[in-house]
Amino acid sequence: MPQVTEAVRIHLNKLRQGLVTCVHCGVQRTVNMAQYPEYHSGNKSLQVKCNLCKKPFLVRFDLRRYHRVTTHFPGQLVQQQTGSALPPITIASLSVSGVGFHMPIPPDMKLGEKYHITFTLDDEDRSTVSETVIVKCIYGTLIGAEFDPPDRYHHALDFYVLANTPLGDF
Ligand SMILES: [Zn+2]
Repeated sequence: MPQVTEAVRIHLNKLRQGLVTCVHCGVQRTVNMAQYPEYHSGNKSLQVKCNLCKKPFLVRFDLRRYHRVTTHFPGQLVQQQTGSALPPITIASLSVSGVGFHMPIPPDMKLGEKYHITFTLDDEDRSTVSETVIVKCIYGTLIGAEFDPPDRYHHALDFYVLANTPLGDF
């Protein structure tokens, strides 16, 4: 039996259900995220036990593609290579993997460029998010960017996205 340390990624549908395949015996069953009320992040592993063979393995729920929260708060952007600050931006949307923001004027940006983005969430702790992003799409003054590296765990941000997502949208 090979040692299994890698968590199995499970994509959840809008009903918060995902299909889990046991890494030991291959049996499949549907899990509902509501079974794990203490579980908040798409980037944390959770140990589950197979119903059939009773062996434990790790799973990791992948929520990112289903969650995008509309926001409206100010942010700062600094080009990573030159260190130059850009005019203030408005954070328009957030997910655990990326951010959408508005520029005051059409920016001189290129796809794939890296920037350092900083903004404060309107959560209870007024958490500051300060991350490197890569520009993924440019629509006039609206920019879509992905966090770099994409799989990093951001507790405040992940929690914010989940807490602000209506349950019906899972
Ligand atoms: Zn099994």
